[in-house]
Amino acid sequence: MKVQLVALSLTLVGSCATLRHTEKIEKLKESITYENTQTVERYLNSITEDELKEHVYKFSSDDFKGRRAGEFGHHKASKFIKDYYVEQGIKSPLGSKYYQYVPESYFSEGIKDSQNVIAYIEGSEFPEEVIIISAHSDHEGYNDTEIYNGADDNGSGTAAVLEMAQAFKKAASEGHAPKRSVVFLHLTGEEVGLNGSRYYTQYPIFSMKNTVANLNIDMIGRVDDSHQDNEEYIYIIGADRLSTELHFISEEANEQFTNLELDYRLNKDNDPNRYYYRSDHYNFAQKGVPVIFYFNGEHEDYHEPTDTPEKINYPLLEKRTKLIFATAWYLANSENRIVVDVDS
Ligand SMILES: [Zn+2]
Repeated sequence: MKVQLVALSLTLVGSCATLRHTEKIEKLKESITYENTQTVERYLNSITEDELKEHVYKFSSDDFKGRRAGEFGHHKASKFIKDYYVEQGIKSPLGSKYYQYVPESYFSEGIKDSQNVIAYIEGSEFPEEVIIISAHSDHEGYNDTEIYNGADDNGSGTAAVLEMAQAFKKAASEGHAPKRSVVFLHLTGEEVGLNGSRYYTQYPIFSMKNTVANLNIDMIGRVDDSHQDNEEYIYIIGADRLSTELHFISEEANEQFTNLELDYRLNKDNDPNRYYYRSDHYNFAQKGVPVIFYFNGEHEDYHEPTDTPEKINYPLLEKRTKLIFATAWYLANSENRIVVDVDS
């Protein structure tokens, strides 16, 4: 009898705790609202499939020779990115050079000196706090007969970052600078072992303590096998692992502006693919920075020379880019920075 009583009171305590937790989550969800959706819409609409297409075609062209880190083609791709920022009037925290050099000694497998490219829009109220939007710029290079163009991997992510930077710049020039700084980070050496992001997080340009979140993009232009009947989706990985708030901000951004299916199946702890550990965001997460990894899943052209620009779904790339922009906008403009409340 006594044992049963203990069990009963434990159940009661348990359900009260669950109730409090549910109330807390409800309150948190209610608190996440965009102040002026029309303003966000205005800059969202500057992100277009035509411009994304132009960037993807250029970035995955044969000129860049598959962009292998440390080689001619990747240097050329880095210069293409830098020139874009200069032309758009978007500054770098590194002054006129835009490059964070990653020395040969930091790589293995004979990879030569390479570079991350970094640009930013300075925050108007909390400039020292930063939201980092990242995408790796390198790929698999070429061999005697073929070039690995990497249009989806990661021409799609690179194009998305370039378009978002332009949108944030336009907003800033029209009196809507973000409250926090928004950083555009093009990482090298992802394909050879996440080296560029490891280097950045070890030698950060903005302190890791003031890095509010990392939104990392790696392949968002295609549709995988399991979504052939509903291509309006994106896999969201990592959003709830360090900050409950980040997960709900991402959901609110989607609800307000894009209405995609946010697919969380690859975020499961026991997912055998372990994508959470496999792209650049993981180096940020390891330093305690909340991250979201945006991903379309693998497809038949993944890491093949057939990953070419005509196979990208550009209207979908536009929609996914808008989701990321709206999420970044919220993170950069909310009254308080997001809270880390989940033990990793
Ligand atoms: Zn990739």
